Amino acid sequence: MIKHEFKAESKRLLEMMINSIYTQREIFLRELISNASDAIDKIYYKALTDDKLVFNQADYYVKVTADKANRTLTISDTGIGMTQEELENNLGVIAKSGSLAFKKENESKDGHNIIGQFGVGFYAAFMVADRVTVTSRALDSSEAFKWESEGADGYTIVPSEKAEVGTEIVLHIKPNTEEDNYDEFLEEYRLRSIIKKYSDFIRYPIKMDVTGQRPKEGSEGDKPEFESHVEEQTINSMVPIWRKNKNELTAEDYEQFYHEKRYGFDKPLKHIHISADGAVVYQAILYIPESTPFDYYTKEYEKGLELYSNGVLIMNKCADLLPDYFSFVKGMVDSEDLSLNISREMLQHDRQLTLIAKNIKNKIKSQLQSLLKDERDKYETFYKAFGRQLKFGVYSDFGMNKDTLQDLLLFYSSKEKKQVTLDQYVSRMPEDQKYIYYAAGDSIERIEKLPAIELVSDKGYEILYFTDDIDEFAIKTIMSYKDKQFKSVSSGDLGIESDAEKEKQEAEESGSKELFEHMQQILSGKVVKVKASKRLKSHPVCLTSEGEVSIEMEKILKAMPN
Ligand code: ADP
Ligand code: MG
Repeated sequence: MIKHEFKAESKRLLEMMINSIYTQREIFLRELISNASDAIDKIYYKALTDDKLVFNQADYYVKVTADKANRTLTISDTGIGMTQEELENNLGVIAKSGSLAFKKENESKDGHNIIGQFGVGFYAAFMVADRVTVTSRALDSSEAFKWESEGADGYTIVPSEKAEVGTEIVLHIKPNTEEDNYDEFLEEYRLRSIIKKYSDFIRYPIKMDVTGQRPKEGSEGDKPEFESHVEEQTINSMVPIWRKNKNELTAEDYEQFYHEKRYGFDKPLKHIHISADGAVVYQAILYIPESTPFDYYTKEYEKGLELYSNGVLIMNKCADLLPDYFSFVKGMVDSEDLSLNISREMLQHDRQLTLIAKNIKNKIKSQLQSLLKDERDKYETFYKAFGRQLKFGVYSDFGMNKDTLQDLLLFYSSKEKKQVTLDQYVSRMPEDQKYIYYAAGDSIERIEKLPAIELVSDKGYEILYFTDDIDEFAIKTIMSYKDKQFKSVSSGDLGIESDAEKEKQEAEESGSKELFEHMQQILSGKVVKVKASKRLKSHPVCLTSEGEVSIEMEKILKAMPN
């Protein structure tokens, strides 16, 4: 028998997981049940869309069986099963789910707790088992195969037998050690509570043989005699969380679902539970994550929500449900109004889907607005992670979305020394102030040293500091806010001087005409014009621009590839 080695990175991850995780080992069961449920989803979907396959609802279930005497815990499902190749590919490498990348990203932060919290799918089994045996028979196949592994060393695959299509996973539970108790994972009550806690909403029955007491037949009256009997019970309520009433759910339930669904590795900042029954009927659970996914601002990042048609998953990442500027939102949508057979191309033109997308967009917006209003700290956390995306949103699509987004923007204020909204800025503008002033630069410290900000500050006007390279582009797209135009402190005409002052300045300037011409000659090719300035106080000279494009924007435009 050939022993296959795990791919190197799987090995490292596996070792790290087995050796360093002592919290929340119980999530291994959630992972295995979730895989079983995915596998049933796949076969169920086939049955629904393929006339040749006929199945009964009752045929789909997961069964969890503990055997104390042999120290085994078995999780079997009637799902789609795996071929020999699939066993090899799916259980032999981790890389696919991107677990390793995520691990690297998080390693430095909070080393040990990560996998305990989020799991790494199938491999979580090794947190409680020293040997795992997977026997599987794939749909449309009469052969079965047995995959077996004792951990980081590798695994074997041999032909095997299995009467029904599906997968059976046997965990050989580790012996107790002085510090760690593994026996609990063979206890019926413990297993039940783990299933209830993490897998209650799984839409297929999770069954267990439950030992109970019942009155002996013939024994009646005051003192009935009891006998033990074993009965197969369904442990989970099978009502998906999104179909439940909001009042029945706790913040923890939503958080569990977020992790179970692997929407993110962080703690969600906010959830939105929608039950719409207007023009289009749908349920949705959406999340605003707390931190930026490691690939968020890269091309690799794929936006989208899970899409269900009446409880059956039809697409993992439906991009059409989210505008780009809300691409950070995670979650799912379930609608009875969608066809199961709908293709990706058809979805784009689906009227129902368009309606849902619009509805969702508005809900997200209003959720963010109330976060901004009522939970400012949380909003600032959100903005730190995704504010840049909102600004991109303002700038892109020819500014079409500025009305949706402009009230969600925050900029650092010279007065407040913290981030403020445009509304906050405008509402406290003195009456004589014509413009919304801003200054752009690499950092707050550097902006504060800009000679150009002095004059505006001296007037007592507030200045917004733009430290993100997208800021000024976004603002140029908005053009004005509540009828107030934006003005860079380094632009030629600041709108601060009165006409008389301007005249005086021009007169002074003409007196020094020759000097300026001479300077201009020396600096030729570097500046367009040299002139006297009224705005300098403690600095002898400053650079400004007269046109639409500020000096900072020019720098960025120059840095851009053509
Ligand atoms: P993920 O579920 O994130 O893909 P896992 O490590 O949990 O990662 O599982 C890896 C893969 O193994 C799954 O994507 C699936 O293809 C396969 N798999 C695991 N368990 C089962 C099962 N019970 N039935 C069929 N396929 C399974
Ligand atoms: Mg999984």
